[in-house]
Amino acid sequence: MSLSRRALVSSFAAFATAALSRPALAGDKGSGGPLKPGQPVTPAAPVATGPFVLPALPYADTDLAPVISQSTIGFHYGKHHQGYVTKLNELVAGKDWASKPLDEVMKATYGSDNVGIYNNSAQVWNHTFYWGSMKKGGGGAPAGKLADAIKTSFGDFEAFKKEFAQAATTQFGAGWAWLVLGTDGKLKVTKTANADNPIVLGQGKPLLTIDVWEHAYYLDYQNKRGDYVAAWIEKVANWSFAESQLG
Ligand code: MN
Repeated sequence: MSLSRRALVSSFAAFATAALSRPALAGDKGSGGPLKPGQPVTPAAPVATGPFVLPALPYADTDLAPVISQSTIGFHYGKHHQGYVTKLNELVAGKDWASKPLDEVMKATYGSDNVGIYNNSAQVWNHTFYWGSMKKGGGGAPAGKLADAIKTSFGDFEAFKKEFAQAATTQFGAGWAWLVLGTDGKLKVTKTANADNPIVLGQGKPLLTIDVWEHAYYLDYQNKRGDYVAAWIEKVANWSFAESQLG
């Protein structure tokens, strides 16, 4: 890992925005050097073999333990997220999709016959957003603009936490729970199935997400999704990332 960890962490909000919306670049290969806000993504590892890349984790794979173990990160990031990137690159090879931004591919293929491209592009997007939604020493209560918006929209932080946990624990089967900025300017909690996300469903702008696919928690919590969700909110939720997404 040659990248400066601190630079990665401090620039992750800008990094995530760039990674999730910019066009794929021919030169997208891991090449080291600290990331700067707004700079195109240059993941440290692993190197992609196509236009879409696996962004570097914004922390060490041990940083979220014990809430999320190094082993879970190893499989979830190293196998699942990488797998979606690899599959997407295979599916877009030689097609116009290969030169388009990730979010454009995801939106254009939603509900179309290109089910594989949709599922894999949306899962690449969702997972990049999920890694940003956590940090070492996270949790606690949000501050500033986000705290104000939560109070306005949910009454108080405890009411929001209850609603978010409820969505995450009751999503039936694989999926995600989200904090979203709705088109009416208010925050809301949503849940989505499989690869779906608030962008393709027109629910608003995502601010934070928790992955509730079993691969996200089963090694650490087995069937106890509620324990994973509670620990996630209390100890790793990245409120400053959510606030940065408010714009
Ligand atoms: Mn996942």
